[in-house]
Amino acid sequence: MRGRDRLFSVFLVALAFAVGARAEDLQPLPGKAACVAGPTALCLNGGRFRVEIAWKDFDGRTGAGRASALTDDTGTFWFFDPANLEVTTKVLDGRAVNGNWWFFFGALTNVEYRITLTDTVTGARKIYRNPAGRFASQGDTEAFPAAAESFRVLVFTRTTGFRHDSIPDGISLIQTLGAANGFSVDTSEDTAVFTPQALSAYRAVIFLNTSGEVLNGGEQAAFEAYIRQGGGWVGIHSAADTEHVWPFYGDLLGGGAWFVSHPPIQTATLRVEDGTHPSTRHYPARFSFTDEWYNFQTNPRNAVDVLLAIDETSYSPGSGAMGDHPIAWCHRIGLGRAWYTALGHRSETYAEAAYAQHILGGILWAAGQP
Ligand SMILES: [Zn+2]
Repeated sequence: MRGRDRLFSVFLVALAFAVGARAEDLQPLPGKAACVAGPTALCLNGGRFRVEIAWKDFDGRTGAGRASALTDDTGTFWFFDPANLEVTTKVLDGRAVNGNWWFFFGALTNVEYRITLTDTVTGARKIYRNPAGRFASQGDTEAFPAAAESFRVLVFTRTTGFRHDSIPDGISLIQTLGAANGFSVDTSEDTAVFTPQALSAYRAVIFLNTSGEVLNGGEQAAFEAYIRQGGGWVGIHSAADTEHVWPFYGDLLGGGAWFVSHPPIQTATLRVEDGTHPSTRHYPARFSFTDEWYNFQTNPRNAVDVLLAIDETSYSPGSGAMGDHPIAWCHRIGLGRAWYTALGHRSETYAEAAYAQHILGGILWAAGQP
């Protein structure tokens, strides 16, 4: 092994000290010999698992990386990822990372971690992290408890502008999705929940047809920190007609793509641009949909991953026609995840199975689920 590769293995062994005890409850890969853990080997069943690490340090600096795995015949695998090692050094207050195991443990005292193991066969995901607000201490194996299988989301529906009649339908849909998919759903129009402590209970906050200016300065600061430190955001329809003068919200939405105008409700043709995302992979390559089609202030394409786009030749977009016209997208922001769909004006929409899958996929992605 080259020196840098070995260093990263040592780093992951340090993590294995914490993670390994929990990893065995994941099912072994059929046909693989039992893994034998060694001084530089972490047994996670034959490279079946993808390992992603996100962290922040005391100074608020954040980073994320992915450990790649090479599997040998015994099912043991080694981590090689010099690129991640480079990123890792950023958490250490600028100090070089070239020590031994204990040096790494020393380094661990300075950060909060979230380690995500994804079973690439079943899609099951387990998340390990030190408790919120608590930094890992040297040799502290309890600093990485398995996250609960379930999680909470907040549906936020405050409006100070147009109010959609479909808001109760959206709440009902998301509650149904939560009950069927193992997550809890709180709803609120009260901005008092936008504090660091209250937001920390949620893996994602869903802006369901919000409108106008809905948060004050302190609430905005709490929400921005929540997102940058790993929170999820889901924006539905007039979430794009919200917080027009808050620059961070434009970034969260994606490239400042605020709502600007819409023609009358029409049926149009949508094109799937990403057929692998959990919010779009169930759709055919092109499909018809009836909605109030938003034109956006900017084209977000350069700032986001476009999931759906609308074919402007299939309807009358009016004076705000965009040409290239994304209609649903997602992107990372800090350690957080943001997912937006313009679909969702009409009450009828919330009763459609395919739309329900679209929203579910967006929520799970934003919440860091498979
Ligand atoms: Zn609308």
